[in-house]
Amino acid sequence: MENEIEIESAKWASSLILYVIGETPTIKDLNTDIANQWKVSHPPEIFYHSEGYFVIRFKEMEDRNRVLYSGPYTIANKPVIVKPWEMDFDFQKEALRMVPIWIQFPNLPLNCWGMNSLSRIGSTLGTPLLADECTASQTRLSYARLLIEIDLTQPIKHNIVIEGSNGRTINQKVVYEWEPIYCKRCTKAGHDCGVSKPVERKKKAQEKWVPRVQAQPDSELHHEKEARKTNEWTIPRRTVAREKPETSNPAVVVMNTYEMLHMDPVIEPVIPNPLIDKGKLPMQEGGDLIPSGAG
Ligand SMILES: [Zn+2]
Repeated sequence: MENEIEIESAKWASSLILYVIGETPTIKDLNTDIANQWKVSHPPEIFYHSEGYFVIRFKEMEDRNRVLYSGPYTIANKPVIVKPWEMDFDFQKEALRMVPIWIQFPNLPLNCWGMNSLSRIGSTLGTPLLADECTASQTRLSYARLLIEIDLTQPIKHNIVIEGSNGRTINQKVVYEWEPIYCKRCTKAGHDCGVSKPVERKKKAQEKWVPRVQAQPDSELHHEKEARKTNEWTIPRRTVAREKPETSNPAVVVMNTYEMLHMDPVIEPVIPNPLIDKGKLPMQEGGDLIPSGAG
């Protein structure tokens, strides 16, 4: 039984969860956009889950990773959330809450471009997943670019304070390549019932993305036990809730060749932080900043 579960889990290890914000696309739209936007060696299998999301299963982990780390994408002109499939994946709990987003730090001071510093800076916003090639190789100094998993239920920060080694603080601007809206009332991404901006009311024809997903504790794709077979990749776990997002100073654990970053002696490393090393960075094509789904 145990073995069977592991075998079944392994079948899905190279899968991604894909959720289109606002409207569930047809499989045809999905196929077309995937064929046009994703650079994969084999067309992935697409499965629709009744909760409103898709499971995209790739033949090769390499394809999965390339897609995962090369967003943001759009499907039928709607933004999509792409996440690694995990055995304990709970769509209602996680899919619309913890979202990886590419984030730029314009004019980041050059002495902050080390992987440890980047990881630490990224941790002020969420769980840093990786840096793009130009950031890792420091070949484009106008901004650093990190993929960071953001908790949408927390306020989006557009500025963070970086503390230099000499005690000097710098107010660092934060640019989100895709800035999602999150409704705390409905616990869904795509709109915000709590916001009533007079300016927005004037825009009569403004499009609103309202997910059709109903809350159903359906779990066709769940399994009993995790099997993380992800090559050199480590998928960030989400077992630790951030209780004080504004003031907390999350511990940074840099894996692979990087040393653990000790920011504060009382902090314990709570979240594995797989900001990966240069040698294993999954690069975007050309390593440039233009996401393939944006054009
Ligand atoms: Zn709402």
